[in-house]
Amino acid sequence: MARHRNVRGYNYDEDFEDDDLYGQSVEDDYCISPSTAAQFIYSRRDKTPSGVEPVDEEYDTEDPKESTNRQLSGLDQGKSTDSQVSRSESEIGPKVARMTISGKKQTMGFEVPGVTAEENGHSFHTPQKGPSSEDVPVAGSSVLEAEPNITPASVKKPGKSKPQIDVKAELEKRQGGKQLLNLVVIGHVDAGKSTLMGHLLYLLGNVNKRTMHKYEEESKKAGKASFAYAWVLDETGEERERGVTMDVGMTKFETKTKVITLMDAPGHKDFIPNMITGAAQADVAVLVVDASTGEFEAGFETGGQTREHGLLVRSLGVTQLVVAVNKMDQVNWQEERFQEIIGKLGQFLKQAGFKESDVAYIPTSGLSGENLITKSQSSELTKWYQGLCLLEQIDSFKSPQRATEKPFRLCVSDVFKDQGSGFCVTGKIEAGFVQTGDRLLVMPPNETCTTKGITLHDEPIDWAAAGDHVSLTLTGMDIIKVNVGCVFCDPREPIKACTRFKARILIFNIEIPITKGFPVLFHYQTVSEPATIRRLISILHKSTGEVTKKKPKLLTKGQNALVEVETQRPVALELYKDFKELGRFMLRYSGSTIAAGVVTEIKG
Ligand code: GDP
Repeated sequence: MARHRNVRGYNYDEDFEDDDLYGQSVEDDYCISPSTAAQFIYSRRDKTPSGVEPVDEEYDTEDPKESTNRQLSGLDQGKSTDSQVSRSESEIGPKVARMTISGKKQTMGFEVPGVTAEENGHSFHTPQKGPSSEDVPVAGSSVLEAEPNITPASVKKPGKSKPQIDVKAELEKRQGGKQLLNLVVIGHVDAGKSTLMGHLLYLLGNVNKRTMHKYEEESKKAGKASFAYAWVLDETGEERERGVTMDVGMTKFETKTKVITLMDAPGHKDFIPNMITGAAQADVAVLVVDASTGEFEAGFETGGQTREHGLLVRSLGVTQLVVAVNKMDQVNWQEERFQEIIGKLGQFLKQAGFKESDVAYIPTSGLSGENLITKSQSSELTKWYQGLCLLEQIDSFKSPQRATEKPFRLCVSDVFKDQGSGFCVTGKIEAGFVQTGDRLLVMPPNETCTTKGITLHDEPIDWAAAGDHVSLTLTGMDIIKVNVGCVFCDPREPIKACTRFKARILIFNIEIPITKGFPVLFHYQTVSEPATIRRLISILHKSTGEVTKKKPKLLTKGQNALVEVETQRPVALELYKDFKELGRFMLRYSGSTIAAGVVTEIKG
């Protein structure tokens, strides 16, 4: 029997149904069991291909009894899917396009060759005009039948007919069979995230020798020679001075079968809000841990970011993970150390809700480049490790389904002035698709504008679909009305904006109990908004979802509860049961993540 099965009041016997776990100890400070966490996390691979979401069975708070079955059915029944979104082979080239998604700026990368969209095969002419916009079938519309809380006063039908696109077919053509995957890199500060990914990009030819030489020289001059590879990603001066990665930068690279948009997440504790933004937009993650003696432990203990990041990405919908057991050079590539780390981490990740078969462990050295893009030849490693290298493992991630047939939704991660008359926003398309010329509604502030241009990986395109990280050039609206966190949507099927909503939350390992009027920071997609817990409606049984107590006075760690939240300013939200990506959020208080939640009712 497990030594720590009943951890801080948790009966793991009740929560775990997997017998494998029972022989192991649970050294965990998070009051979350997989089945409890399961109620707050979901698989992005579970979407139906039609784009019409099945009625959500995990989160229907109206019928809590159902939750028993959903718990037993587990989290991760997502099937691997064929390519839904991928990119053209012809894009392979020494190119790193970088933009920050912190809401501050867009910086262009380096080494972008002068290849036109046509040459790259990305610009295609949409088929002949089809039926008018009213006829364009948009699946999932029924979920938005209710009147939005801010009635879109200025909504007009799109000005011109939208050519009908078979998005799925066009996506396959556009991407030449390559699948698009958004990857976030997480882990404790100094685990070697930037060095690892910077070196990987260098080995892939995404950074030329001259640029790398420049980074080497500059880092030597600054007395930080070991940071040269990290500088490939940590582009801003401030980051270099502080030696930490602050923004979530975005970079692109290719594997055999995929185009990867890489988001390098910051490891510093202060920057977790930015990391949430990165992780909210990711499909898969690389968790970097430092194998050096004492360092893995430091990052893994309470206060380290390994656990918090792991839990966060899972709560935000990431189901597949590669763990780079990094700095293996520091421990002479010892198999015992590698196994020790797998043992400790594996147990935790399972509890956080990751399926064992969706987690892979790779021994690496970001500094020497060992096992990054080719299998290691070093006998120190080959004598006990014959598995995949990091790039091969990333290539073998399963691609998520994209909600291309749902109404258009893009959550703004950055706003900046265009050189021309309009302005630009960047963000990931969470659902649907957009074409140049489309009229879009922005919620809030409930105003419309026109899409003048669309850019994907710095190349102009005529349309873009769910899963794409794009930049839109817009006209017909004042830039000052658009903020990070606004949602661009289809005016015919608008998203709701509200300040009050009901949510089901799972409370993390908190010190201070949550009471009525508790102030929190509400993190949702790219939004970070002050909010208050207005009402504690009920405490729910962590397994069955049944109400165990009405109107509780306080909520404590590990509890599952129904609450009403009020944000300071309106935020555009969806119900979790309708749009998973747009219906879940995190709550933070005083620098820590205190809860993960899902929206169950929009109040107004
Ligand atoms: P981040 O904060 O996780 O992005 O970590 P950095 O990439 O900035 O690396 C932190 C420090 O660890 C730097 O001095 C790196 O040179 C060093 N480092 C990174 N990877 C390795 C590695 O594989 N082996 C060794 N020995 N040092 C490494």
